[in-house]
Amino acid sequence: MNDPLFWQHKSLEQMSESEWEALCDGCGKCCLAKVIDDDTDELYFTDINCQLLDQHSCQCSDYANRFAKVSDCVKITLEHHESFQWLPPSCAYRRLDEGRALPLWHPLRHNGDKTLMHRVGASVRGKTISETAVSGELQEFIAYWPLDECED
Ligand code: SF4
Ligand code: SF4
Repeated sequence: MNDPLFWQHKSLEQMSESEWEALCDGCGKCCLAKVIDDDTDELYFTDINCQLLDQHSCQCSDYANRFAKVSDCVKITLEHHESFQWLPPSCAYRRLDEGRALPLWHPLRHNGDKTLMHRVGASVRGKTISETAVSGELQEFIAYWPLDECED
């Protein structure tokens, strides 16, 4: 990438497609099932992951065909800004959109290395159950760790 610090001086609107893609830390939190309280409209994360999520790498196992295979998989774009409401507080898109910086563990601060992100617990690694392995109501699996930004 010609401009490794692009995220510090470009707005989300100014970013190229490759820069936009590079912003994603690969935490996997947006691939968790969510619950919305009908009375309050409040959003809750669960610790249930999408069937296509690789629980170790925290990556989609079929990224190219994700929309064909998972009907409610959402592409994060500025055109669909409402999709930002589904993102966790640590998500790079949400943070930059809110005028905040990237977290210290973000791979873009470490030449793309995700080791620190996993080490500080900012990804879903080791914390989730696949939707193919659970039964019962989603409400039973509400989790608050996805809201943690894993920073001091
Ligand atoms: S929550 Fe944000 S940073 Fe994490 S995987 Fe999803 S889009 Fe990428
Ligand atoms: S299809 Fe892939 S990108 Fe979409 S929610 Fe599932 S694991 Fe995530």
